[in-house]
Amino acid sequence: MRYPPVYFLKPMNTFIIKGFMILFVSCVTIKLNLCSPNTSSLNTLPLDGHFNFHEVHHAARDFGNRYQFLPMAVLHPKTVSDIATTIKHIWDMGPHSELTVAARGHGHSLQGQAQTQRGVVINMESLEGPEIQVYTGSSPYVDVSGGELWINVLHESLKYGLAPKSWTDYLHLTIGGTLSNAGISGQAFRHGPQISNVHQLEVVTGLLN
Ligand SMILES: Cc1cc2nc3c(=O)[nH]c(=O)nc-3n(C[C@H](O)[C@H](O)[C@H](O)COP(=O)(O)OP(=O)(O)OC[C@H]3O[C@@H](n4cnc5c(N)ncnc54)[C@H](O)[C@@H]3O)c2cc1C
Repeated sequence: MRYPPVYFLKPMNTFIIKGFMILFVSCVTIKLNLCSPNTSSLNTLPLDGHFNFHEVHHAARDFGNRYQFLPMAVLHPKTVSDIATTIKHIWDMGPHSELTVAARGHGHSLQGQAQTQRGVVINMESLEGPEIQVYTGSSPYVDVSGGELWINVLHESLKYGLAPKSWTDYLHLTIGGTLSNAGISGQAFRHGPQISNVHQLEVVTGLLN
C-alpha cells in the first residue's frame, strides 16, 4: 500500500513560516491603513493653476529639515479662486477623506507649520498677481499677494522712495509667512510688528462668490 509522502516541518521552519504569515498580515493591514484618500477628483477641478502629485518632496521639509511630512499633492495656484475652489472641494469631501491643507510661503518655519502629512500643500509663492502695487500719498501703502517675498516689496517700494515701516531682519520670507507669526525686528519697538501695520487682509475660504 502506498501512502502520499508526509512532510513534517521542523519546529524552526514552523517558526519561520508563522513569522512570515504575521509579517504578511501586518503588511496587508498597513496597506489598508494607509489607504490614500481619493484625490483623483482634485484633477477635475477647473483651475488656472495646477496640482502636482509627483514633485512634492520639497514641500515635505521644514527649514530645519527635522520634520518630514510628505504631502499627497502640491497646488500651484495662479489665482485666489484656485485656492477657494480647492478648499471648498476638500471641505465637501467631508472629514472621512482625512485630507488636510497647509499654506506654504517660503518654507522657513519649523516643526511642520507649513506641512501636511498626505494632504495638500498650497504653494503660495506661485500665486500670480496682483503685481505689487505701491500707493503714494499722505498715507502710502502697498497692495501685494500673500505669497510675495519681503525683499521684492522693498525693491518695488524703493522705486518710490518708500520702504515698509516694519521689517524682519531676513527678507527672503513671504508676507503671509511672517504675518502668521507677527513679523518682528528692530523697528517693532517704534512701529509695532508687521502684523500691526496691515490695513486690510483678504481671507480666502472655501466660499465662492
Ligand atoms: C533665516 C531666518 C531668519 C528669520 N528672521 C526673522 C526675523 O527677523 N523676524 C521674524 O519675525 N521672524 C524671522 N524668522 C521666522 C520667520 O518669520 C517665520 O518662520 C515665517 O513663518 C517664515 O515665513 P515663510 O514665508 O517661510 O513661511 P512658511 O514657513 O512657508 O509658513 C509659515 C506659516 O505661515 C503660514 N502661511 C504662509 N503663507 C501663508 C498665506 N499666504 N496665508 C496664510 N497662511 C500662510 C503657513 O501655513 C505656516 O503656518 C526667520 C526665519 C529664518 C529661517
